[in-house]
Amino acid sequence: MKSKKREQEKIQQKLHRKLAELQGSTSRKDDLIAERLSDPVDQMQSRADLDLAVTTINTSFEMRRAVETALNLIETGKYGICSECDEDINPKRLQAVPWTTLCIVCQEMYDLESQFAGDDPKPIRV
Ligand SMILES: [Zn+2]
Repeated sequence: MKSKKREQEKIQQKLHRKLAELQGSTSRKDDLIAERLSDPVDQMQSRADLDLAVTTINTSFEMRRAVETALNLIETGKYGICSECDEDINPKRLQAVPWTTLCIVCQEMYDLESQFAGDDPKPIRV
C-alpha cells in the first residue's frame, strides 16, 4: 500500500512535468503563428503552417485535458482504475502512459471503434 502511494506520487510529478511541458509548447506555438502572419510575402506557406500549428495546439489541448483529468483522479483516489470497466489499469501501462484512463482491453476496444467511426469526432484517449 505504501509503495503504491509512492508510485502515485512519482506519477503525479510526471504528470505535472508533462503539463508544464504542454503549456510551454502551446505558448511557443502562439508566438510562432504571430510571427509568421506578420509577413505577408509568405502567406501561402503561412496558411499551411498555421493549419499544422492549429492541429498541434488542439492535440496538446486534448492532451492537457487528459493530464489534468489524471491529476484530478489522483486527488480523488480513483487513479489507476479504468473509467469503462472499473478494473485496475496495469501499473506498467500507467508508467508508460500516466494520463490514460482506460485499461488495455478497453483501449483496444476504443481504438477499434474509432477506426470504424472515422468521421465521428471523439475526445482522444491515450
Ligand atoms: Zn477497462
